[in-house]
Amino acid sequence: MPKSNNTSKTSDKNPKTSTATKESTKKSAKSATSTTSATLPPRYPTKQIFVGKVAIGGDAPISVQSMTFSKTKDIQATKEQIDRLALAGADIVRVAVHDLKDANALKELKSISPLPLVADIHFRYEYALIAAESVDCIRINPGNIGSKEKIQAVAKACNERGIPIRIGVNGGSLEKEFDIKYGATPTGMVQSALYNIKLLEDFGFDNIKVSLKASDTERTMSAYRQLRPLVCYPFHLGVTEAGTMFHSTIKSSMALGGLLMEGIGDTMRCSITGELENEIALARAILRYSGRQKQGITIISCPTCGRIEANLVEVVRAVESRISHITTPMQVSVMGCAVNALGEAKHADIAIAFGNKSGMIIKKGQILKKLPEAQLLEEFVAEVENLAQEMQEAQ
Ligand code: SF4
Repeated sequence: MPKSNNTSKTSDKNPKTSTATKESTKKSAKSATSTTSATLPPRYPTKQIFVGKVAIGGDAPISVQSMTFSKTKDIQATKEQIDRLALAGADIVRVAVHDLKDANALKELKSISPLPLVADIHFRYEYALIAAESVDCIRINPGNIGSKEKIQAVAKACNERGIPIRIGVNGGSLEKEFDIKYGATPTGMVQSALYNIKLLEDFGFDNIKVSLKASDTERTMSAYRQLRPLVCYPFHLGVTEAGTMFHSTIKSSMALGGLLMEGIGDTMRCSITGELENEIALARAILRYSGRQKQGITIISCPTCGRIEANLVEVVRAVESRISHITTPMQVSVMGCAVNALGEAKHADIAIAFGNKSGMIIKKGQILKKLPEAQLLEEFVAEVENLAQEMQEAQ
């Protein structure tokens, strides 16, 4: 079975990769101690690549990406979706290149896209050559595009513009030889990745990132874990066909969150059958709760019980949507009654607790205001914004 020669174990044989790996190892270790929770293991050291201006791997923040679902040749519809993703906080966007019209639309799309653009191509190397003239990254599996000459032509085109290739292994569509030998298993996915990596490395191309997506958490996690010590390239994390919001939230949180907490993963997509913005919100939440990104609000709300003094579900939804624009790392607590509020709110930066037709705002463990219920929400939102500003200025 083919094996990548660009591995962390054998990287000294490849001076270019060896240097990149050692440098990024040092940077990564520094980054891990300065930007993530002290209880987490450091992120796995990887080579650093760039998709447009977005750095991936090494000491770069873990980026979030998604994919448009419009026909790419419909430039207006695709631009609208890219804008929505940019507004929601995406770092990178991917578009499908299904036919020649899609490929020919890339140049114009690139010129108007606020986000770095990745072209997703299957089988057709001629579309990859067109895409390589304008986009910031290509997702293609070299093993699927035919002869060595075609692979070399794509590698050369990407090399000339300095754009990376994502090798996107998918458990459901392995090359025939791996499917027959291993089935859609983590081992089959890893062998497919190593094979595709080697095809590019044989032409001197190492501007690579890799994804290993299966539709369930177990295979996804196992494949990424198996490949991680074998190569120095950054990983794009994802569970493919993860389902609707409910199912994807569970699968993505377990698989992507688990891997991130182990130090694996450099960029990610949470696939959801649903609204584009939800993919970004979910990815950002997973990053925050896995301790790999400190930015943004963490809301703590009580589970509710018979002591509750307000319609807490409605209040939490209102608070969440009113303060979702805040990027300062803060803990905001919403409590249904005052019984445990002071104790529970000690760990929050700011809290609200309800009483009988009244309530209080607690800031850094101290009662700031007691107010009638009708004024509470507005005052609370204003105080959260003030505190965010104070904390931002103090940084
Ligand atoms: S904060 Fe109050 S309402 Fe919420 S769970 Fe605790 S006791 Fe019950």
